[in-house]
Amino acid sequence: MTPGIPSRIDDATRMECKICWYVYDPVEGDPIEQIEPGTPFRALPDYWRCPQCDAEPNAFIPATDDD
Ligand SMILES: [Zn+2]
Repeated sequence: MTPGIPSRIDDATRMECKICWYVYDPVEGDPIEQIEPGTPFRALPDYWRCPQCDAEPNAFIPATDDD
């Protein structure tokens, strides 16, 4: 397995912080970091961190609550 961001996520995948359970939704973006709506998780800038707990993007896992 490759560490870091899972390769199977696509541009519409919502990503969940495994530390604080914040969910990044590409439809909404992240107004706190001025990420525009429609920005895929893998297109987030290098400096982006979890707005709630400051975790790095590799702490995020695909959200599965709509399965
Ligand atoms: Zn977090």
